[in-house]
Amino acid sequence: MNLMKRTTVACAFCFVAAAVALADGETAPARDPKQPVDTAYTERIHRYTTQPYFTSPLVDYLPASKTVPTPQTVLGDISGAPGILPYAEDVYKYMRLLEKATPRVKVFSIGKTEEGREMIAVAVSSEENIKNLEENRARLAKLADPRTIKLDDAEADKLVAQAVPIYYITGTIHSPETGAPTALMELAYRLAVDESPYIKEIRDGTLTLITPVVEVDGRDRMVDIYKWHLAHPKEFFPWLVYWGKYVAHDNNRDAMGVTLKLTENVLNTYVGWKAQVLHDLHESVPYLYDNTIGDEPYNAWIDPILADEWQIIGWNNVSAMTKFGMPGVFTHGDFDTWSPGYLMFIAALHNGISRLYETFGNGGADTEERTLQPEDYARTWYRQNPPLPKVLWSQRDNNNYEETALLTSLHFFNENKRMFLKNFYLKAKRSTMKPGAEGPAAYVLPADDPRLGLQAELLQVLLKQAVEVSRAKAAFTVTLPAKKSKESVKGKEKKEEKAEPSTPTTREFPAGSYVIRMDQPYSRIADALLDHQYWSPDDPQKTPYDDTGWTFGELFHVQVTRVTDTKVLDVPMDRVTEPRAPGGVKGDGTVFAINNSAEPALATLRYRLKNAAIEAAEEPFESGGKKFNRGSFLVRNVNRADLDRTASELGVQVSALGSAPSVKTHAVHAARVAFIHTWLSTQTEGWWRLALDRLGIPYDYMSTQTVAKIPDLNAKYDVILFPPVGFNAGVNPVVNGIPTAWGNPLPWKNTPETPNLVGKNDSTDDMRPGLGWEGVARLQEFVQKGGVLLTATDTSSLALALGFADGISTQNANKMKIIGSVLGTRLVDDASPIAYGYDEKGAAYCDNGPIFSLSSIAGQRGRRRLGPEIHARPTGRGSMDDPDFNVGRISVEAPEEPKAETWESPPVMNEQKRNGFRVIPAALRPRVIFRYADGKDLLISGLVEGGDEIAQHPAVVDAPSGKGHVVLFSINPVYRGETWGTYSIVLNTILNFDSLNAGRKDAPQ
Ligand SMILES: [Zn+2]
Repeated sequence: MNLMKRTTVACAFCFVAAAVALADGETAPARDPKQPVDTAYTERIHRYTTQPYFTSPLVDYLPASKTVPTPQTVLGDISGAPGILPYAEDVYKYMRLLEKATPRVKVFSIGKTEEGREMIAVAVSSEENIKNLEENRARLAKLADPRTIKLDDAEADKLVAQAVPIYYITGTIHSPETGAPTALMELAYRLAVDESPYIKEIRDGTLTLITPVVEVDGRDRMVDIYKWHLAHPKEFFPWLVYWGKYVAHDNNRDAMGVTLKLTENVLNTYVGWKAQVLHDLHESVPYLYDNTIGDEPYNAWIDPILADEWQIIGWNNVSAMTKFGMPGVFTHGDFDTWSPGYLMFIAALHNGISRLYETFGNGGADTEERTLQPEDYARTWYRQNPPLPKVLWSQRDNNNYEETALLTSLHFFNENKRMFLKNFYLKAKRSTMKPGAEGPAAYVLPADDPRLGLQAELLQVLLKQAVEVSRAKAAFTVTLPAKKSKESVKGKEKKEEKAEPSTPTTREFPAGSYVIRMDQPYSRIADALLDHQYWSPDDPQKTPYDDTGWTFGELFHVQVTRVTDTKVLDVPMDRVTEPRAPGGVKGDGTVFAINNSAEPALATLRYRLKNAAIEAAEEPFESGGKKFNRGSFLVRNVNRADLDRTASELGVQVSALGSAPSVKTHAVHAARVAFIHTWLSTQTEGWWRLALDRLGIPYDYMSTQTVAKIPDLNAKYDVILFPPVGFNAGVNPVVNGIPTAWGNPLPWKNTPETPNLVGKNDSTDDMRPGLGWEGVARLQEFVQKGGVLLTATDTSSLALALGFADGISTQNANKMKIIGSVLGTRLVDDASPIAYGYDEKGAAYCDNGPIFSLSSIAGQRGRRRLGPEIHARPTGRGSMDDPDFNVGRISVEAPEEPKAETWESPPVMNEQKRNGFRVIPAALRPRVIFRYADGKDLLISGLVEGGDEIAQHPAVVDAPSGKGHVVLFSINPVYRGETWGTYSIVLNTILNFDSLNAGRKDAPQ
């Protein structure tokens, strides 16, 4: 590489930029010629940059400092050097060295990860700004909550003129996207040290806040793998099968449920600092894609001011880098901005500006030749200077792009900070004025909801989102608007419900009902979570980037009423900071009864009270004037004080009864649970682990390799959970694994080179082998001998493909498109313990099925017929109700054709009974517990296209097999901390594992 040539090119750009600056008065992006350069560091920047156009005048040198250490002090080489990937600890060490060396940097600890690693935020600004952090925070807090200045625009203008805005940058939430930490180390140095007017303006005018590593647990694992790779350069290296303790890529889908520590810590930092921007750094697309502007549809709940800000900053960013001659910088593209689940979206729905970069990376710090796909290097209207088809790409190139883009963004943001600060205020003000504008006025969660525990969980999510929650001091009445008549598209079909009221109605809510007021600064996030989503099947965007529906009230099975009547805001109410479901023992007696409303806390209680004898009532009953649902607990052998304490903690209401009700019961055991994962992917099951851990349900976590080696599974376990693998993994990948006929073993275990790999999860000498056919046989034997195997989505398809259950088939969807939506469900068999506590109508998360169909004939596929279905009478004489005849003989009436609903097995026909060795005996046929709602009631939230293919089909099926059961889910009941309402379907299966046939009408003898 010709270094001289490159330098000349870079300088030529400096000159051009300087000339532009003279023309329009902008500050040139060029170094201060009076400040000395760190020549050794700069020489390495040039050496590691693979093409002259992969850099810019902002980053092709490093200013020297006598007092402030460069990243080289900790890294041993410069940021972006080949072979260098620092652990989070090293990144922090450097940031703290900076803090010691200059008053322009201050480091804050912002919390811990699930595995106990620290997360930090680094503030970089002028000495004066760092000194005045608290005064500035007070100013920003007033802008963030315009109620504090009585929505006075003149007062806001004064604050806007004085305040220093905060631009918050977050790095490497996605662990294989490795470039950000070193880029951010160097960025912090530049912002603290560089005296060029361009950088000085940023430093003096804006506070840059940096969390260099968001997924700290995953970062350390990724560095381990990279170190292993460096030590075994000729071998294949293991893929990063675990990132954080629970999930991988989905850590960037948690900004709704806020179940992960990293989300909570970043959210608290963003909201606590009253930052204006949250800018999250990723790597995937060459070379720099600002996906913030993205594509339609935009999230319906954002302020349009924000949509304009995305455009303003994004296009300026592209423009600035275009002028530097850096190829492959673009915005727009195919990312829709619908789901608010991304980390950056914390800002979007808290009155800030969300931003995201995709840069190009090699998944490590090797310099590699990279070949692009045609769609990646094609010139398009929004990418006039596209990436090159084939390049040598280095981590330094990545760092050059990230830093250049961030610096131009920071500069542009700073130049326009009064506008952005004013917008920040305006967005907050418009949020507080929501009730009188687009509405609603509030959401109300009634005090008489039968699921107060789940209600409290939902309120906790809102509180984590910094939403204000209030509680009405007295009963109140609001007017609900008239609903428009819902004529279905086809015109004929009517909804199951009685006709919707066509005139306004009123509704009374009892005292103690929770009110989420919309006249508060963070009303938009509450509105976005509690409202319903509709993604039109006709939307021009045909490939939703993520989930299309998420309505939290529906997924939590909690009543939420959208109230547009602004009188609700006059109801006397108090702010609540710790909403708790009431719990504890009431009444006199020695038999304790707990009503079952499908609240997960019941399972927690069962496991906490290890020695108590707990039974479930198989029928509803009444006692002491109180009604108890089927499945209600009767608790004996327990000290009242212990029960009272546990029930209070868990928000479970217990009634002490004078005598046991005369109702059939069965024991509810604390089942021994095994939990299986594959080595292919652990993310989708990770959400299940997270939920079980939150609820205190113990389980043994093991891989498909391990379960295959346990000789007698029944001796150790009652229930085996096999949650979804993800990406519709089928028989070949799960059973056979990754081919072992070539290549080297891929270990996932702790070694001197990989001290962080295993963490608190699992390990293996070789990730490649799968469950194996022996493992399949073991699982089958487990079920045959009386165990319960629970599967969901792709593992349900897998279990059926492997022949674990008779009488169930899956169909391929033709036109159906259900992308992460909330669908209506119906309870089919309320006597099954799996359904205990559930209502007739429910909601569940579904992502394209699978579509189950039942049959009473073993080995027979679904209910498809050959030829046309003849429902009406055929052509002939007479009329519709005047029968046809057969000339020359007396007509006979055809026997009535037996009918079955879509979710049922078709009745066995006489012809099938002849030598019917395939006919499954009634007691062994699958039992449908829940089904999907009818087509017209299927969509609750999100996108449903071609929904008739899954409408009315089984959603949860209990298939007896040998002495045991396979319980198959088409829905995913445990997902992203958003589906609390369906958790109990899983928990009921676990607790009633040895009584699943209870209430079965054709129970085996
Ligand atoms: Zn990413």
